Amino acid sequence: MRVLITGGAGFLGSHLCDRFIAEGHSVIAMDNLITGNTRNIAHLAGNTNFHFVRHDVTNYIYIAGPIDAVLHFASPASPIDYLKLPIQTLKVGALGTHNALGLALHKGAKFLLASTSEIYGDPLEHPQKETYPGNVDPIGPRGVYDEAKRFAEAITMAYHRVHGVDTRIVRIFNTYGPRMRLADGRVVPNFIAQALRGEPLTVYGDGSQTRSFQYVSDLVEGVYRLLMSDYNDPVNIGNPDEMTILEFAQVVNEVTGSQAGIIYKDERIKGDPQTRQPDISRARAVLNWEPKVKLRQGLEPTIAYFREVV
Ligand code: NAD
Ligand code: UDP
Repeated sequence: MRVLITGGAGFLGSHLCDRFIAEGHSVIAMDNLITGNTRNIAHLAGNTNFHFVRHDVTNYIYIAGPIDAVLHFASPASPIDYLKLPIQTLKVGALGTHNALGLALHKGAKFLLASTSEIYGDPLEHPQKETYPGNVDPIGPRGVYDEAKRFAEAITMAYHRVHGVDTRIVRIFNTYGPRMRLADGRVVPNFIAQALRGEPLTVYGDGSQTRSFQYVSDLVEGVYRLLMSDYNDPVNIGNPDEMTILEFAQVVNEVTGSQAGIIYKDERIKGDPQTRQPDISRARAVLNWEPKVKLRQGLEPTIAYFREVV
């Protein structure tokens, strides 16, 4: 296949480039580098199956020649990023998704949208199944991301129903691993960087809010299987191993050997979801997929990566 990966110089996009190249496909990574970095794909430079195009996908996307699949991963993803870039976030979810779908339609390509657990907002159903429509405040600070992704899902299904584009929607739950940006503000890089610097970990609120952390290789496997399947409805891909942020802080201090402890800070962003855990029965049934990497296993290479960049 000849595959276009938007957001290909980002954290997840770059790991997907690696996977598709390893499977023998040809990859075009497209990115405007707003939150990504060519360092993430530098090791692919010179590979004849890999090309990088610097382009903002909110503008018309032109690619010469055939394309078999479009994986649309371009979007700021960290809450700190999308608070700083609210309009770019809305535009890439809306205009960028429209352009990427238009390209898929024109090329007769499959289309896969990177959606998110954030479409469930601060969920009133727990764990979250794909049938749960969510609890999102459209005008809250997180609304720019949540609503952009909800629009992206809606237009993806519209292109499927109206134009017959062969679409996929993956709802990704908190994923971590090497190549996350040190200062992207998400809890995994924040805590690891703080621990490696011997600083206390900043827990926002009382730390009782929960998340379920998935290692990047599990996500990549789930996305690959979903693309190769014929399933058009959304699929949660995440690790159901749920814990409080306070428990997560304790694990990070333990595995890094940091003695600096924890400090509590005010809730960072209004509307911080209080619970989050994927129900992955659909992924199990449709893709025969489930996560394999346990938290402490996945933290090892992640911490090793951050040791290099701190
Ligand atoms: P990231 O910030 O590392 O990657 C996003 C990439 O998109 C960056 O390289 C950025 O430069 C690029 N980009 C943004 N706007 C663009 C535009 N207009 N044109 C071209 N490129 C643009 O974040 P990530 O964690 O790798 O997230 C990738 C995708 O996965 C995003 O769509 C995100 O919403 C989704 N996602 C990620 C997670 C997670 O836990 N990492 C969870 C849910 C959903
Ligand atoms: N968080 C925290 N300290 C930090 C960064 C994040 O306590 O230094 C909390 C944050 O308030 C949220 C959770 O960790 O409850 C996950 O935040 P992240 O930014 O990683 O992603 P989210 O799941 O909120 O999109």
